[in-house]
Amino acid sequence: MSHPNIYYSAILLAAGVACLVVAVMAWQLRREAPGATPLTIFLLGLSWWDITYAVFWVDFPAPTPYFWLDITMVGGFVVPTAFLVFALEYSDGRRWLSRPVLFALAIEPILACALMWTDSWHDLYFDGKRALNTTRLLDAGPVHWANAYYSYLLILAGVIVLARFYFRSTGVYRRQAALILAAVALPWTANFAFLAGWLPSDADTTPFIFSITALIMAFALTRYRLLNIVPVARSMLIENMNEGVLVLNSNNLVVDINPEARRVLPPDFDIGQPVQIAFRFFPDFVARFFDAEEAQAELLTDNRHLDLRISPLRDDRGKMIGRLVVWRDISDLIDVRSKLETLAITDELTGVYNRRHFMKLAESQVLHARRHGRSLAMGLIDLDYFKGINDTYGHAAGDRALAAFAHLIRENVRDFDVFGRLGGEEFGLLMPDTEVEQAFQAAERLRVIVEASHIFPGDGASSITFSLGLGMLEGENDTLGSLLRRADHALYAAKHAGRNRVIVWRGDEVRSEPPV
Ligand code: GH3
Ligand code: MG
Ligand code: MG
Repeated sequence: MSHPNIYYSAILLAAGVACLVVAVMAWQLRREAPGATPLTIFLLGLSWWDITYAVFWVDFPAPTPYFWLDITMVGGFVVPTAFLVFALEYSDGRRWLSRPVLFALAIEPILACALMWTDSWHDLYFDGKRALNTTRLLDAGPVHWANAYYSYLLILAGVIVLARFYFRSTGVYRRQAALILAAVALPWTANFAFLAGWLPSDADTTPFIFSITALIMAFALTRYRLLNIVPVARSMLIENMNEGVLVLNSNNLVVDINPEARRVLPPDFDIGQPVQIAFRFFPDFVARFFDAEEAQAELLTDNRHLDLRISPLRDDRGKMIGRLVVWRDISDLIDVRSKLETLAITDELTGVYNRRHFMKLAESQVLHARRHGRSLAMGLIDLDYFKGINDTYGHAAGDRALAAFAHLIRENVRDFDVFGRLGGEEFGLLMPDTEVEQAFQAAERLRVIVEASHIFPGDGASSITFSLGLGMLEGENDTLGSLLRRADHALYAAKHAGRNRVIVWRGDEVRSEPPV
């Protein structure tokens, strides 16, 4: 290759400009994109290498014979280190890049560069044999070889880091990683071939191939939105999600908040204020949960029910640097839940407790009465001649009568009495803290009310009536089963005695009944 060479120079210049353009693009992403800063330095190093080498090839006047060659090699010293740092940052290995490590990584390029520039004093770099018209080495000294091996070691490490990232990731990240690997493999393969003497050319072809790297990276930047897709996706997600998100630093100051969180927090609240202000309407909550690393809580605002979780945020070394508070509005869920709960304990036709729930409450009333030595009365109700009502007026009319009856009883008992439908036209009435006379009077009062109510939907002259058997809880070891049996026997006696009446179970009387 003759010297000067305008074509060679033009191609180098194009490569250098391409790298420069990509460097500017990467630099603009430095705040949000991991790896953008070392990538910028990496690309600037390449650009420097290309452009100064281009200047060298047009025989630009130089103060000293080796001036342009010396200058151009600075790029070569910077590139391997910047590449490794980029690979680590890009693939989430930032924990390796502590300040001392970065400092240590900076030593070699500076030292090698200094030794190269001062070669004429010690011949350690070029071994005293240097060509004026090419960066190709005629022969090289120990510093050159040390630098070469060290550089390839760094690049190898960077490639391994990227390859690991490639295998660990999926989707668009995997394609990004593949593209970066392809981009970096190209020049380094060529450079290695050149240094190993496999490429027959006089000139160093590495800079040519760098232009291709730059183009592939530029393609990756636009095609796969290299680097900036992660933060964009994250902020979109957080901004638009239905969950409230709040980020706290280690001093419990709120450092970030999403629109959904703003809707719930006080309107005058803003980023930078302490969490106590954000949750000032919930002082209990702040006191109980904001020392805990992790917690879950339910908060009730005026009309919302929030399910809130606190989780620790840790840095790469596992040190807690803040906390993440995320909450979900579960008001609808709570609504549905309470509707379901009501459904589960309610008799559909009459709206009073169903058998299962009545028995459950009765069980606990029995335990309570036993433990505290209180009286407890159980009334079992069966409507009289109900079959006849159905037969005459139809089942639907019978249903309406059942509902009206249940409603009437519910209206006329005390709040703490337990009333439920046990099945068919049979009901239970549990009267806590009620002695037998009181219970009898209450039952009798209900009987009169129902008889006088004319709730029966047929003709206004007649109305439904019921029979009621009353049993009392007896002693500390009595059971619900015995209580129900007593009431049932009394009910049987009431039917037997002519219906539309209340009968209290008394041992003798029941024993005198004919067997059922
Ligand atoms: P008595 O109790 O006075 O001896 O006479 P009864 O006719 O009420 O007899 P029993 O209690 O043995 O029969 C219950 C009847 O109640 C049978 C059925 O026709 C009616 N029944 C039971 N469940 C329902 C219901 O859910 N809806 C309606 N409409 N009728 C019911
Ligand atoms: Mg019956
Ligand atoms: Mg009946």
